[in-house]
Amino acid sequence: MPTDLDYLVPTSVDEALALKATPGTAWLLGGTDLLPQMRAGRKAPQRLVDLKRIAALHEIRDESDGGLSIGAAVPLADIETYPGVLDRFPLLAECAKTVGAWPLRQRATLAGNLCNACPAADTAVALLAFDAEVRVVSMTGRRSIPLREFFLGPGQSALLADELVTDVVLPGISAGFKGSYQRLSRRKGMDLATVGVLVGKSNGTLPARWRVALAAVAPTPLRLRAVEELLEAKGVAAASEAAEAAKTACRPISDLRGSAEYRREMVGVLVRRGALSLG
Ligand SMILES: Cc1cc2nc3c(=O)[nH]c(=O)nc-3n(C[C@H](O)[C@H](O)[C@H](O)COP(=O)(O)OP(=O)(O)OC[C@H]3O[C@@H](n4cnc5c(N)ncnc54)[C@H](O)[C@@H]3O)c2cc1C
Repeated sequence: MPTDLDYLVPTSVDEALALKATPGTAWLLGGTDLLPQMRAGRKAPQRLVDLKRIAALHEIRDESDGGLSIGAAVPLADIETYPGVLDRFPLLAECAKTVGAWPLRQRATLAGNLCNACPAADTAVALLAFDAEVRVVSMTGRRSIPLREFFLGPGQSALLADELVTDVVLPGISAGFKGSYQRLSRRKGMDLATVGVLVGKSNGTLPARWRVALAAVAPTPLRLRAVEELLEAKGVAAASEAAEAAKTACRPISDLRGSAEYRREMVGVLVRRGALSLG
C-alpha cells in the first residue's frame, strides 16, 4: 500500500466534487473493493475522497411511484434488513445477503458493488432485472444511467471520471416480484460467485412478469430478455427450453473459480430450477 496518500473527508457533495477535480483522486465508500485493488497494485490513486461523512448519501427514501432510492453510502447490511426492501424488493435483499460475510457487508455499499463493474457483482443482478437507474452528479450537472447501459465490460462502466453516484433507484414496478437468487461459489462468505442466477416472477398484471438475470458468466452482469419472453409466452412448461436458451446466451470464461463448460451447464440447471419453483 502507498503510505503517502492524501485522505480527504468532505461533508457535502459539492465539496466532494471540488476535491475530485485534482487528477489522481478516487472516491472511497466501504473500501472493500478499492483497498484490495490498491494493495494488489491494480489501482494507484494519490488521493482518496471518503464519501461516508456526507449525510445525504446515507438516506433510503420512498419514491413517488412506490419505488425506492438507496443512497450511495448505505451499507449492504442496512439494505438487507430495511423493512421497505424486505417487503417490496425481497430479491434485492436476497442478492445483497450473498455478498461476502456480515462484517464485510457492514462496510460494503450497493453503489460500490456497481461502480467496480465486476461481472460477478451480486446486487447488479437484481438491479438489472428490475430496471434500476444509477443517479450521478458532476460539476456540470446530473443524469440518470439505466443499469442496462451502465456496465461496459470487466472493470468498465459508463461513469465518467468526474461523476459521483449519489443513489440507486428501483422503480415501483419492481415491487411484488417473487423468486430466487441461486449462487454457486467455492467458499461461502469469502468468494465471488462462480455462477449467479436470478429468476423472478410477478403475480400482478404486468405485461412482462418474468425476470431472468445472471452474474459471473459474461463480461458484464446479464439480463436475458429473450428467456423472459419465452417464459412469458409458454409458462413453466418451457423451463427446459428457457434453460437451453440461457446456456446459449451466456458467455462464460474459464478461471480459477470454474471452467466455462461448468458455468454454462450450471446456468441451465439453475434457470430451469428457478423457473420450475415459480410454476
Ligand atoms: C473478502 C471479500 C469478499 C467479497 N465478496 C463479494 C461477493 O460475494 N459479491 C460481490 O459482488 N462482491 C464481493 N466483494 C467485493 C466488494 O466487497 C463489493 O463489490 C462491495 O459492494 C464494494 O463496495 P464498497 O462500498 O466497499 O466500494 P469501494 O471499495 O469503496 O469502491 C468501489 C469502487 O467504486 C468507486 N466508487 C466508490 N464510491 C463511488 C461513487 N459514489 N461514485 C462513483 N464511484 C464510486 C471507487 O472509487 C472504487 O473504484 C468482496 C470483497 C472482499 C474483500
